[in-house]
Amino acid sequence: MSTLSDILRDLGSLLMPRECIVCRTPLVDGERDLCTSCRYSIPLTGFAREPDNPLFRSFWGIVPVERAAALFFFTRGGAWQRAVHSFKYDGRWRSARILGRMLGEELDAGELFASVDLIIPVPLHTRRLLLRGYNQAEYIARGVADVFGCEVDTGSLVRLRNNPSQTQLHTDQKRDNVRELFSVRHPGRLAGRRILLVDDVITSGETMTACVEALAAAVPDCRVSVAALAASRARYGGAQ
Ligand SMILES: [Zn+2]
Repeated sequence: MSTLSDILRDLGSLLMPRECIVCRTPLVDGERDLCTSCRYSIPLTGFAREPDNPLFRSFWGIVPVERAAALFFFTRGGAWQRAVHSFKYDGRWRSARILGRMLGEELDAGELFASVDLIIPVPLHTRRLLLRGYNQAEYIARGVADVFGCEVDTGSLVRLRNNPSQTQLHTDQKRDNVRELFSVRHPGRLAGRRILLVDDVITSGETMTACVEALAAAVPDCRVSVAALAASRARYGGAQ
């Protein structure tokens, strides 16, 4: 006879893919989202323990950022990039939250982010949010907040429009393309806060830069750090 927990587990396995989000091999009992092999071979950046890391340095002279880190590197077309990409399109928001917790544990262990008291996910434009049904960055942020025990704010930073695909644009056009992409509502609520902006990936850094610009302009006395699950190895990985 099936117990309630068996039925719930069966229901859960119908709802949740039972294969590794990275290598797609079937998961065994005790594994969740990532297989043991991928969990131990994750291409960690180590940025959470290194204040003066390449991601942090990329914001120098552009926008005021207190700390910057990403959990792992991705390479274009690689398995880890596909895994993060799948959060957007396969309804895998649960996996986004689990990896968000891993990011939170890494940030927490490094202690550089200890003063953060509010987490803001990089917002989607309302139209895209309605189409997709959820913002994957919000679930990553909620995973980080599970570890930090602080509030997630999804209402104060808003995206005014979608940025069209940037791949065809030159660098100057890319800057114009993301300028004034975000706006701050109720800036008084953010006054004096130590904010952690969270996104899924940092590829060029332009979207994150636009968010920090908007926050710094609207709330001069807030302090902003940035974190993502994945950062481009080509841009931030040095000679590796
Ligand atoms: Zn795997």
